[in-house]
Amino acid sequence: MTSILVIGAGVGGIAVAARMARRGYDVTVLEKNAVPGGRCNQIVQDGHRFDVGPSLFLLPQVYAATYTALGERMEDHLDLKRIDPTYHIHFEDDTVLKLSADINWMQEQLEAIEPGSFGGFLRYMAEGYRHLDIALDRFLTKNFYTLFDQVNPGNLSLLTELKLLQKHYDNLGNYFKGEKLKAVFSFQDVYMGLSPYESPAAYSMLQYTELADGVWFPIGGMYRIVESLVSIAEGHGACFVYESPVKRIAVEGNRATGVVLEDGSAMHADIVIANADLPYVYDQLLPDRGLARRMMNKQFTCSAIMFYWAVDKAYPQLAHHTLFLSGDYKAGSDRIFHDHTLPERPSFYIHVPNRTDPTAAPEGCDNLMVLVPVGCLYEELGQDFEALRARAREIVIKRVKKLGITDLEAHIKHEVSYTPHDWRELYNLARGATFGLKHNLMQLGYMRPHNRHGRYKNLYFCGASTHPGTGVPIAFLGAGLVEERILKEQPTT
Ligand SMILES: Cc1cc2nc3c(=O)[nH]c(=O)nc-3n(C[C@H](O)[C@H](O)[C@H](O)COP(=O)(O)OP(=O)(O)OC[C@H]3O[C@@H](n4cnc5c(N)ncnc54)[C@H](O)[C@@H]3O)c2cc1C
Repeated sequence: MTSILVIGAGVGGIAVAARMARRGYDVTVLEKNAVPGGRCNQIVQDGHRFDVGPSLFLLPQVYAATYTALGERMEDHLDLKRIDPTYHIHFEDDTVLKLSADINWMQEQLEAIEPGSFGGFLRYMAEGYRHLDIALDRFLTKNFYTLFDQVNPGNLSLLTELKLLQKHYDNLGNYFKGEKLKAVFSFQDVYMGLSPYESPAAYSMLQYTELADGVWFPIGGMYRIVESLVSIAEGHGACFVYESPVKRIAVEGNRATGVVLEDGSAMHADIVIANADLPYVYDQLLPDRGLARRMMNKQFTCSAIMFYWAVDKAYPQLAHHTLFLSGDYKAGSDRIFHDHTLPERPSFYIHVPNRTDPTAAPEGCDNLMVLVPVGCLYEELGQDFEALRARAREIVIKRVKKLGITDLEAHIKHEVSYTPHDWRELYNLARGATFGLKHNLMQLGYMRPHNRHGRYKNLYFCGASTHPGTGVPIAFLGAGLVEERILKEQPTT
């Protein structure tokens, strides 16, 4: 039987392991941590359950397709609740906008903020729909084996159809006049680790899918996805080995022959799939120093300072997803993406899962997961993340006071907090960049580091920093693409 070693039990690693085990391969997943999930982990303490990373269940159709590909039905594994309003957005001047699929309510709210904007909103949604449709059909679900697969006469129209050469923020000027709504309909670019001032206008697909396909949440937390997929993979015979950090990938000629673990033991495999963050894999697990340098010199997404606060009081002022936008939008983006630090007036996001899922926190209590976007690690800049963490904490606690939450600090009974250093330490994320490599035009599709190594023809990559990119559903698409490649390229034994 053909053997496969998967390095890392992140969502991409689990999904590809399940797919290959179902195909009859002998699959072993080696995970450095004690539990699966990677960035999609959970923290459970005193009856409070936090999702570590992902909190927005987007593109439900892609999740459903993954379960179908594994011979399962998503609804048998996940009890999904739709979140509407998707976000409560608080501006610095105390204006509030509740993004919703209720079109009449949106009209009322948008017109109050910017008279005449509702027509622009409808046109913007129509564009987002076109972008998502094209991206799913012709980009995110395709392997680019050669440059010609991407750059060919049939695909040239993608440049204009997806507005790939236009900046997202500039394009928003075609739909909205004021900074407020431009910010509302572009802040999601941070999920791709990009500033809207540099991201392609194609990303209007994010705002479309949130409002049209919906933002969902599985009862039991995002970790239910991990648990269910691990159990499906195990059901197909995949074996998960935890607390087994891989030290290096063994190579011979043009082949990967297996891995060597930190404890010195060696494991052989016919095929190796690295789910651990790709630049880290090139830098730490493979021998070629020149390639490693090239990967580490690529452009990285931002990182995040996180607070997971278990509070012994409920704060109904906070919705399931609450976003605090800073008026200093451009300056804030520049501080994160150019200066790799924390803006003076940062925007931030709070997730309160127990607003929808009462099993996430004890009665009368709240779980506050706070995400403050910040630059990723460039140690040569002398970043002091302890100081930035303290400043971020102070800013969050001060800003929520405007909502009448004046006693938060006194009610935090338990706190966990991460900086970019923790992201690097916990999951081996290169530069602590929470979303992997950037998704700018020069790092998309064929130009993104490929999902198979150039020299070692049986070494594949699956996860946020390879094609198609970051996000849980996108990792699932990536797993399908690696499966397709292996079936096409590798003889079975
Ligand atoms: C704060 C935050 C918020 C996010 N929000 C969302 C969201 O709302 N919605 C969404 O869809 N996505 C979101 N994402 C993105 C999403 O979490 C990721 O894109 C996705 O989980 C990445 O999965 P992956 O397959 O790349 O694996 P990773 O999560 O990177 O997992 C890789 C695994 O490899 C393991 N590993 C590393 N090195 C080794 C080694 N040497 N040996 C063995 N194992 C190793 C790691 O421990 C880890 O378990 C968010 C991410 C973060 C961090």
